[in-house]
Amino acid sequence: MKKIVILGGGESGVGAALLAKAKGFKVFLSDKGSLSAQYKEILANNEIPFEEGEHTENQILDADEVIKSPGIPDKVALIQKLHSLKIPVISEIEFAARYTKAKIVAITGSNGKTTTTLLTYHILKNAGLNVGLAGNVGESFAKQVIEDTFDYFVLELSSFQLDNCFNFKADVAILLNITPDHLDRYDYVFQNYIESKFRIVQNMTATDDFIFYQESEALVGELAKRTDITANRLPISLVAEIAQGGYLENEVLKVNYKHETFEFPQANLPIKGSHNVINSLVAITVSKILKLDNQQITEGLLSFQSVEHRLEPCGEIKGVKYVNDSKATNVDSVFYALGSFSEPLILIMGGVDKGNDYRQIEKLVEEKVKALICMGTDNSKLLAFFEKKVPMIFSVDSLQKAVQLSADLGTEGDVVLLSPACASFDLFKNYEDRGRQFKAAVVALRESK
Ligand code: ADP
Repeated sequence: MKKIVILGGGESGVGAALLAKAKGFKVFLSDKGSLSAQYKEILANNEIPFEEGEHTENQILDADEVIKSPGIPDKVALIQKLHSLKIPVISEIEFAARYTKAKIVAITGSNGKTTTTLLTYHILKNAGLNVGLAGNVGESFAKQVIEDTFDYFVLELSSFQLDNCFNFKADVAILLNITPDHLDRYDYVFQNYIESKFRIVQNMTATDDFIFYQESEALVGELAKRTDITANRLPISLVAEIAQGGYLENEVLKVNYKHETFEFPQANLPIKGSHNVINSLVAITVSKILKLDNQQITEGLLSFQSVEHRLEPCGEIKGVKYVNDSKATNVDSVFYALGSFSEPLILIMGGVDKGNDYRQIEKLVEEKVKALICMGTDNSKLLAFFEKKVPMIFSVDSLQKAVQLSADLGTEGDVVLLSPACASFDLFKNYEDRGRQFKAAVVALRESK
């Protein structure tokens, strides 16, 4: 009997274990950290052997195939050993894709994945398609293909998931943009990260569709070299008219696909900012490929709610609006966040710096930010870079102080924007924790007024 070993016991690992078991394989799951009580119970109930707190090598090295969690870097000794023994190491996505008949819409990019995935899923589901949601969001893909009841899947894929995909093929692939991120996992070579992202189009044929954002420099540079990509190319642009694909013209979103056209005024989009125009144009193009009619697409766009922690409005006090963009953990996403406002901004940035280069947002900060509040345990880099570029700059070491200071500085018509450009681990558990604490602080502020 073929033996499958699963490394990492989170949502995707446990899902893969359940699928492997359902398909009749011998399964063993190993996690070097600790497993949650809920997952341990699922594994025990399904009689799947597992270990936590260690990787027992002799149990792992006799696998026929290993499914690795995207969180485990390729560099670690155990993975290197598996490679030297020629034991295939795949991702949960690669494994699950073998067992589904559904058409796959796969979405990747450095920024905008979750928003675009949720928006696309929302429009398709709202139109009555039998569609599932998986990848980085919600329930694991593997678990959902055990029954394999969906006709379509919308998948959010990170570069780490794509790295261990080989035969995976999307029917519609989306590459939103490529900007430097996670370079620590790619030997600090940007080209390695670009190539990882381009795995989204591997194995596609001329009958498949490939949607990409035309103004993303690194993306388009690579695409020019890839004459081997035969999938139907559908660009998205904010500046140029596009014959087949999507674009913005006079503040109207326009999509052309085959002989179909669709138009929608930007002002009616519930999600704001030019980045969300790109994300919406992508979702509309997918909808057209999957043959939705214009009425269904319009309804889906209008009824979409903004996603938590992504430019999420979270209240107004004395004419000052508060916006939670805690998910903006790199400079590029802050660039788009700043572009989404015309009001004077009180900007809260800071946290764990990932090798940030702030030049990309320098001009926008100078133009729009009236006060910059640096919030972290070490604010020296931010302070040094922005010191002479904003009218007021402050350094704080807690979220409560940042929100209190914002309230003291804010006057009617201002926006207080939490858009940190940094990871959250110095003061918070994760970006969700940072965003929720921000919202709680705004509620507390309102109650105290
Ligand atoms: P991801 O899942 O790729 O991290 P999200 O949809 O969660 O992306 O958005 C993360 C942040 O990136 C948001 O706070 C937003 O400001 C910014 N963003 C969203 N869409 C785009 C886009 N198309 N291009 C650049 N930045 C974007």
